[in-house]
Amino acid sequence: MRGLHRRPQAVVIYIGRYTIPLLFVSVLMGFLLIYKASAVLMAVRSLDLSQKSVVIDPGHGGIDGGTHDGEGLLEKDLNLEVALLLKAYLESKSMRVAMTREKDMSLEEYSDLGGSRYRRDLAARRKLINQSGADVLVSIHVNSRPNRPDSRGVEVFYHPKAEEGMKLAASLSQAIDRIVFRSFLEADRLRVRILPGNFFVLREAAMPGSLVEMGFITNPEDKKLLQDPDYQKAMAFAIGVGIIDYLRKSAIAGQTMGPLRRPFGKLLRNR
Ligand SMILES: [Zn+2]
Repeated sequence: MRGLHRRPQAVVIYIGRYTIPLLFVSVLMGFLLIYKASAVLMAVRSLDLSQKSVVIDPGHGGIDGGTHDGEGLLEKDLNLEVALLLKAYLESKSMRVAMTREKDMSLEEYSDLGGSRYRRDLAARRKLINQSGADVLVSIHVNSRPNRPDSRGVEVFYHPKAEEGMKLAASLSQAIDRIVFRSFLEADRLRVRILPGNFFVLREAAMPGSLVEMGFITNPEDKKLLQDPDYQKAMAFAIGVGIIDYLRKSAIAGQTMGPLRRPFGKLLRNR
């Protein structure tokens, strides 16, 4: 019968000097985490593509054919075909799209600078790109390596000093790997090469930009693909998906850093 006489056990909570502050801090951290997580979710859900714009630069044009296969196939035409498909895709997602050219033309007459025809064409491209006020620039080109016809594949360039350009290049590469190489070509061993490149349009653009070399005109397999409307469609779709993916990621990064950066940024500016 000893149990009957047992005294009820008291529940002892040890409240030390740090218990209350620790409890307070962990509850606060919990709220902050929930706040941040919901802000990120909101950013992903509410990324309003109709408020985003892209400037597409189909390389070369008009008198400037770009690279060629020596049999009449010109880079400028392939660039424009994919650029127009990309424009249509982005517009189907309600995005605003600007183009440095929409037909087979060079741009030197739009330049307000002097110099050679080539320099004036580039100056006009810079003007059109920066006047567009777009969020992102993508320049579209075709590669060539006449002395190495075995060179093939896609290369995506960013300006070596551009952190955002590098992130954009990474998003584009992942989308091209997935959509063009794995899904369309079922070529698991092909991978996009991401490379730094000091290209004029990347250096001069006011917004994050990447330059996509869609394949080698000097490689027989790539040359066939570059002219294949289905490859062109897959490439345009992949570039579009990569652009949207980049914009989503940067919206999330803005939200994650925002609550901290904003008040401190204001403090620093007001000093
Ligand atoms: Zn080119």
